[in-house]
Amino acid sequence: MTQLPKVVRTLATLRRVRAGFGNAEVALVPTMGALHAGHLALVKEARRRARRVVVSIFVNPTQFAPTEDLASYPRTWKADIAALAALKVDLVWAPTPQVMYPDGYATRVDPAGAAKAGLEDKFRPHFFGGVATVVCKLFTQVMADYAMFGEKDYQQLRVVTQMARDLDLSPQVIGIRTVREKDGLALSSRNVYLSPVDRAAAPVLYRVLKASAKRIKAGEAIDAALRDGRAEIEGAGFALDYLEARHAMTLAPVASRKDGPIRLLVAAKIGKTRLIDNVPV
Ligand code: AMP
Repeated sequence: MTQLPKVVRTLATLRRVRAGFGNAEVALVPTMGALHAGHLALVKEARRRARRVVVSIFVNPTQFAPTEDLASYPRTWKADIAALAALKVDLVWAPTPQVMYPDGYATRVDPAGAAKAGLEDKFRPHFFGGVATVVCKLFTQVMADYAMFGEKDYQQLRVVTQMARDLDLSPQVIGIRTVREKDGLALSSRNVYLSPVDRAAAPVLYRVLKASAKRIKAGEAIDAALRDGRAEIEGAGFALDYLEARHAMTLAPVASRKDGPIRLLVAAKIGKTRLIDNVPV
């Protein structure tokens, strides 16, 4: 029988178990649970890099706006633990909201730079403050050598990397390539919200990203490629938040390929589901 990972819910126990790891390298994988193959790719890379693997499962209330899906966010605890056991995860850090934000809690990290790029932050202004705060706490609590984040949430990866550097937080932040369905749709815990019709339309995002990247790489004007891409996404029934070309590191706007390595990023809503994706050029 596979051994279940140790599940820890209080800081005192986390510190004791962490101390027991001694000098062994530790890799942390922060998640909100409802684990899928994308999360598990992060765990597998963590397993390759470090002798001890810690996965946190915490649906962080401070990164949801009141209008968003905190209450209905998918929770699949038993399946999550079974999947993590199969990958020989050492420790699951699953604090309650009360442990993470006890009564009287009053501090928030306020990231700038990539966090103010005018992408996700424009549509979810509360988001990166909530993410940076909880990730800062997770880094301090777990004291890992590595922390794994998905490229799927590309702006988040840039924000967390910058924060770790600016605040001298211990882990090296490692970005992991996006895991996709066969038809290109990026795996996401929120994909379960898609109706069959919306699910059939969803791969258009990746298709447009790939086609636009190809055109830009071939020397076409960025504006023209993105204009066609936006029309195709809206034609497929999406309400588009953005389809943009940005500098891959700073996320600053770019006018041409000469402005540096480029990342294309998209966010769009279909039915009640908001999807995001991105590719390198
Ligand atoms: P979440 O539970 O949605 O907060 O995601 C936890 C981590 O898994 C984040 O670093 C995400 O970027 C990463 N992740 C989510 N979906 C994917 C995917 N399809 N491929 C790779 N990483 C992913």
